[in-house]
Amino acid sequence: MLRLSTLALLACSTPVLAQEINVYSHRQPELIQPLVDAFTAETGIKVNVAFVDKGMAERLQAEGDRSPADLVLTVDIARLMQIVDADVTQAVQSDVLEANIPAELRDPNDHWFGLTSRARVVYASKDRVGPGEVTTYEDLASDKWKGRLCTRSGLHDYNVALLGAMIVHHDEEAATRWAEGLKANLAKKPDGGDRDQVKAIAAGECDIALGNTYYMGQMLADPEQKAWAETVNIVFPTFEGGGTHLNISGVAMTKSAPNKENALKFMEWLSGDHAQKIYAETNYEFPVKPGVERSDLVKSWGEFTPDATPLAEIAAARAAALKIMETVDFDG
Ligand code: FE
Repeated sequence: MLRLSTLALLACSTPVLAQEINVYSHRQPELIQPLVDAFTAETGIKVNVAFVDKGMAERLQAEGDRSPADLVLTVDIARLMQIVDADVTQAVQSDVLEANIPAELRDPNDHWFGLTSRARVVYASKDRVGPGEVTTYEDLASDKWKGRLCTRSGLHDYNVALLGAMIVHHDEEAATRWAEGLKANLAKKPDGGDRDQVKAIAAGECDIALGNTYYMGQMLADPEQKAWAETVNIVFPTFEGGGTHLNISGVAMTKSAPNKENALKFMEWLSGDHAQKIYAETNYEFPVKPGVERSDLVKSWGEFTPDATPLAEIAAARAAALKIMETVDFDG
């Protein structure tokens, strides 16, 4: 009896290690918050999120072993691979991650894991672009779109990845001609984000724009932007002989993760049903876990064939794609 109560006292006086993890996120805080809140409610593990806009790999390198970060959340395969190449991540072996994430959406060496995907599509004016007019990515560089195209900077990751995929499908020379053709078709200099291009379509400045799919959901949920969204249709172009360009958002564990066990729990949870549904319903992204449905809105955009180019090949073409964008002075 006495021994038991002594043990109980001892247990109470032992400091309880804080159940928390630290995440460096390149993703906007408002996109991550619903996930963090749900995870904490289910597990009691607190998630501290630091928004890191630029220089993620450099920051982790500079912090080294002293880094508080356990996980990195980011978009774009090239960014994920940059972080892995900077030697600031560690391999994670997990049956849960392997079961939830299709092999082509995670690193064969287990350093990065895709959590959602999104397509880079064409937003087309309902009034000025007829059904069937938008066909392939290659065709976006043809004369028929002269003065009708809007896009954000050619140097942005989303467009660099698209051009990288163009290099993989053809070659650097063809990709250079494509970038030149695209530039020649611009209605105005690249400026702003994907949604600003849809705003420009609504204002009559252009007829088609490049954009990621989830922005349609974000615009429809915004009182001011809804009017822009209502002037356009989403069209899924394909590469000649291929499908529609996809990219991912994903997660990696840092090399020095101080809270490894709980960080792994969060990674696994992000790939599970509840989180995948939040990604689908709140962020309008495509869940990666087989069996988790797209939101009704996302489904309403229609089915498409994803391009089969491996993400790693697109990331490997990044440097060449960036150089082409600079050579053709895409934003100039
Ligand atoms: Fe985005």
